[in-house]
Amino acid sequence: MTSASLPASLLLAMAAVAAGSVLLQGQSSVPSERELDAMIARFEPVDIRADISHLAANERRALAKLVDAARVMDAIFLRQVWAGNETLLLELLEDRSPLGEARLRYFLINKGPWSRLDHNRPFIPGVPEKPEQANFYPPDATKAEIEAWLKGLDEQESARARGFFTAIRRTAPGSTQPFEAVPYSLVYQPELTLAATLLREAAAETSQPTLKRYLETRADAFLTNDYYESDVAWMELDASIEPTIGPYEVYEDEWFNFKAAFEAFITVRDDAETAKLERFGGLLQEIENNLPIDPAFRNPALGAMAPIRVVNVVFTAGDANRGVQTAAFNLPNDERVIREKGSKRVMLKNVQEAKFNGVLVPIAQVALAPADRSKVSFDAFFTHILMHELMHGLGPHDITVNGRKTTVRQELRETYSAMEEAKADVSGLWALQFLVDRGELPASLAASMYDTFLASAFRSIRFGVNEAHGRGVAMQLNYFLDQGAVRVADDGTFAVVPDRIREAVTSLTREIMTLQAHGDYARARTMIETLGVVRPEVQKVLDRLTGVPVDIAPRFTTPLD
Ligand code: ZN
Repeated sequence: MTSASLPASLLLAMAAVAAGSVLLQGQSSVPSERELDAMIARFEPVDIRADISHLAANERRALAKLVDAARVMDAIFLRQVWAGNETLLLELLEDRSPLGEARLRYFLINKGPWSRLDHNRPFIPGVPEKPEQANFYPPDATKAEIEAWLKGLDEQESARARGFFTAIRRTAPGSTQPFEAVPYSLVYQPELTLAATLLREAAAETSQPTLKRYLETRADAFLTNDYYESDVAWMELDASIEPTIGPYEVYEDEWFNFKAAFEAFITVRDDAETAKLERFGGLLQEIENNLPIDPAFRNPALGAMAPIRVVNVVFTAGDANRGVQTAAFNLPNDERVIREKGSKRVMLKNVQEAKFNGVLVPIAQVALAPADRSKVSFDAFFTHILMHELMHGLGPHDITVNGRKTTVRQELRETYSAMEEAKADVSGLWALQFLVDRGELPASLAASMYDTFLASAFRSIRFGVNEAHGRGVAMQLNYFLDQGAVRVADDGTFAVVPDRIREAVTSLTREIMTLQAHGDYARARTMIETLGVVRPEVQKVLDRLTGVPVDIAPRFTTPLD
């Protein structure tokens, strides 16, 4: 049994530090209790639960050990974000006033005293601005100092200093170098030793060979700091339990994106969705052969599909559980592993479902015409996300422009991501309709997927059009409006126009894929500039979403006994 109220990891974190005050005399303005309550209310509390009834007793014991190991990632991540985090947490735990409890709650959501949804605004008095270098570099170093030091290093030292799995620390006085790269296995030795032990205990329980291998090699990696073999083992995982645990994403290092933050996703495979994916996989060539583009742009022999796993979360920790929740990820990030083994996409179905219920359904109540609201369905939402992922592999990629071999990515430059995201979305709708028409999918899907997509468009645009996905979605919505495939009623609500949406989806799919096939940067740029914007009628809906949660705050309630 797990609970988000006071994770054991935090007790661990508490034990790891000596008490000492980091609360200086605060003069900057921090949110009042009321303001803080409103900030917290943006995260809808939800239960995240996975069905594990099909797991044998030994596999369940392995799962419980993995959750224990994951808790250790919370403790490490807190310290990676900021050296003062653990001490501050101890102080917050002492304050039982309503304001103190709200601060603790929001600290746990953000894994630190800065509100990640509000450009890292501090919400606890006396704390500094959020350090961009996190705790990966010395707190008193400047970015310029580190850059100058990096320049002077030889190739091998430089690779170590820029590596995922080292922290940069000041050397002892008298050293020839101002800084040194210290391996995570030393920086977090007590925690990683404990985590390695728990992974080995889990490995001893499971009877699934690929899982055993990942857990054993990952336990070794925690102690040797060499993650290669365990990354390979993770790519080869084929088991009912699908854990991802260790240092992975580099976003928390806002200076250089070099340093990996610790996290854990402890999940179980969703067999029904995995079967659905396999079925779609078998239809991809047929979809490609029928894409609504010049046949010369179609790929007659698609390569192997990149691996995708659909899983349900039992527990997440560290970088995987802070601020806005991760709904899907691609790993590993190590180029060497990607070259040799590729990378894998993992989609967290029960997290997606919680977001759907907690955020998308309330958005639909505001954004859609009353008659269409009940058409919004999770099945349509999730099936479209699956198809979106698959469609990234279809359409033009390697292209020829003026006799020169190149790629869509190279030619479209900074417009590439927004275009490619819009392509995957809109051609995903096109492909689902194609499969419905072929009788491969039920007609009920076609009856709900356009309305579901429309509601989810507002969710994406709400996160901003400065980021590729939001911009790509705004482009589609405005295109549909211009085509008369979506209309705005007098009361400001939006509705799909059933007679026109199919044609608009087809023509936008054609338009984007054709400009990709031509590597037409100018056209991409024009489309993004004219369509990738928030129009007044869309802004009006966004303004009415103030009371709707932005994301979820998970409580992990899978019974592990
Ligand atoms: Zn995508």
